[in-house]
Amino acid sequence: MITKELLVPYLANIVAVIHADGVIQEEETSALESICQRIEAGREDLEEAIRCIAENRFRLTPVGRFSDKVRNLEDMVFVAMKDGNLAKEEKALVLSFAKNIQITQSQFRTIVSETKLKIDLQRSCRVCTQCGASIQADARFCTECGNPC
Ligand SMILES: [Zn+2]
Repeated sequence: MITKELLVPYLANIVAVIHADGVIQEEETSALESICQRIEAGREDLEEAIRCIAENRFRLTPVGRFSDKVRNLEDMVFVAMKDGNLAKEEKALVLSFAKNIQITQSQFRTIVSETKLKIDLQRSCRVCTQCGASIQADARFCTECGNPC
């Protein structure tokens, strides 16, 4: 768990990636919000992170322990790939962050392919194919009818 004062740089790293291709997509925003929930960041932390990036007074800063840095990298990849692909600018940023925290090329490739799998899974499981109920993105079966998804 990252400490309160590290929340803004943690989030700013992710926002920097989203911002790299010049637009913040709706899908990217919702991914960002779920990350905020997970790390218990408030709206003001996210707004401050976005301000830092918009005003161009931030550069990528790995924060916390090694595990936090890796998690941060995973979040960056996840958010960047949410709109379907890793844009060139996004990839450059994420790669430089990975290098900074000494993640190897093959570790990086693993993170990217695992993230892609996770996103595909979430896409395919939003609505139950049998009864149409909306179900948790990562659910293994429908909570309404039990249909595996
Ligand atoms: Zn169902």
